[in-house]
Amino acid sequence: MKTISLLLDSEWYDRYRRIANLNIRSSIYDVTNRCNLRCRGCFFFSSGENHVKEETNIKQWEAFIDKERKRGVNLAILIGGEPTLCMDRVEAFYKRLPSYCATNGLIKIPRDKFPDMMVGISLWGSSEDEKILRGKDTFAISSKNYEGDPYTYYLYTITPKQVGKVESVVKRIVDVGLKVHLQLLSNDEGMEGFSWRPEELRDLRFEMDEMLNQYPRTVISCKYYHETITTGKMMGRTFGWHECPSVTESLDNRQPPVKRLIHFYRWAADLKTVHRCCTSATRDCSICKDGAAHMSWVMVNKRDHLNSTRDLQNWIEVYEMFAKLYRLIPW
Ligand code: SF4
Ligand code: SF4
Repeated sequence: MKTISLLLDSEWYDRYRRIANLNIRSSIYDVTNRCNLRCRGCFFFSSGENHVKEETNIKQWEAFIDKERKRGVNLAILIGGEPTLCMDRVEAFYKRLPSYCATNGLIKIPRDKFPDMMVGISLWGSSEDEKILRGKDTFAISSKNYEGDPYTYYLYTITPKQVGKVESVVKRIVDVGLKVHLQLLSNDEGMEGFSWRPEELRDLRFEMDEMLNQYPRTVISCKYYHETITTGKMMGRTFGWHECPSVTESLDNRQPPVKRLIHFYRWAADLKTVHRCCTSATRDCSICKDGAAHMSWVMVNKRDHLNSTRDLQNWIEVYEMFAKLYRLIPW
């Protein structure tokens, strides 16, 4: 292991300093159990995580969020269900904590109330793919709602059927003046033809690299992320339950302890139940392709990237990518 200043020239050292001070403490909140879609493969509904009694009293939400802030959370990631169905709860978060809202984009978040809240819109491929998987071409609606919005990007979930066709989706996003983060489907509902084969993942890695080369102002990504998520490997280790950093703290009984996100919780909409991790409670970790968990996996393992300049630069690029997705550093 070498020291950081020996490994980096002044430009990279400045980049390192910029992220080293961020001290991100995120947690995830199911804002509601309801959604205005029912996508095939949705981890929330397929895992039964919606089976809690939703808290409906806004005062309870406000008190809960205040407690979360006191617990040290400085980034609230709002998911669901569809958070925009409960705008008062979203507002309660936004007024108290830096907040990020994941949405399907069908309902527009009013920018007069939420001028700088980061918004991530889910997208599952081309119009045809979306009609099959989500029952609707959501892009046709979400792109009108958010065209040119400087605080919004698409969360494009790539499926095995999309390999070789990613560019056409990226181009549509370029045309509406938004950015995109690429992630991979984990086939939680066992749909025929939607599980990854090794050769598809190999091809996709290079396709993702190519998208970043061609559309660097649109694609928020880096090549080390592409490598990590498509291979499930990092520094010779294999991603899975015994490596995952995104496990709720109170449910994490792994021994020996695993490097993990500090004080991370994922709360259900009853404000009492906690879910196992940042994604499906019933997912087989060995097939998990969750993008945030893979990014966090790299981020919590800095020491392992102190062997060479390239390794440390890779680590910095993944950290920067994560920080950009929440606009903690500029795009
Ligand atoms: S929009 Fe999101 S929460 Fe709603 S069904 Fe689809 S994946 Fe699930
Ligand atoms: S399903 Fe994925 S995110 Fe959840 S514990 Fe397993 S590896 Fe981690």
